[in-house]
Amino acid sequence: MNKKGHVLNAVLLSLGIGYLLEPAGDLETFRTIIMIGVPVTLGALFPDVDTAFGKHRKTLHNLPILAAFLLFPFYFGNLEYVWIGIATHYVLDVAGSKRGIALFYPLWKREFGLPIGVAVSSNYATLATIGVTILELFLIALVIYQIPQVGLEFGQQAFGL
Ligand SMILES: [Zn+2]
Repeated sequence: MNKKGHVLNAVLLSLGIGYLLEPAGDLETFRTIIMIGVPVTLGALFPDVDTAFGKHRKTLHNLPILAAFLLFPFYFGNLEYVWIGIATHYVLDVAGSKRGIALFYPLWKREFGLPIGVAVSSNYATLATIGVTILELFLIALVIYQIPQVGLEFGQQAFGL
């Protein structure tokens, strides 16, 4: 996707996550959207820096880069949520656009994509972006609302409650 698509994806995703985490729609919801939305949008713009530095859809479009941004906050205590932007950029490039990304670069140069994607220049690019974002939010909602429940039930069973 192009920059416009990645920003649209990051902004809609952050709005959705903000409401999933703080559903009241009050000041706390707004604060959460800004807190998550700014780093996620910056993260979503980062991988395409490899159009100028490195090989596009390879150098900054791989799992080692995502892992580095996932671990960064644990070591240095900042850059939280940036990894979500990187991850959603990868998801949009893999699922929403025709050309895939080299997930295992530099070990393996092959670009992986899903056959459902559209060309970046296509009239359907925005529609594909919104579709991918809705799917992502659905999966995030499952994680936020279902996994704690499964964990609770597992915990209750483990303690014989
Ligand atoms: Zn990209």
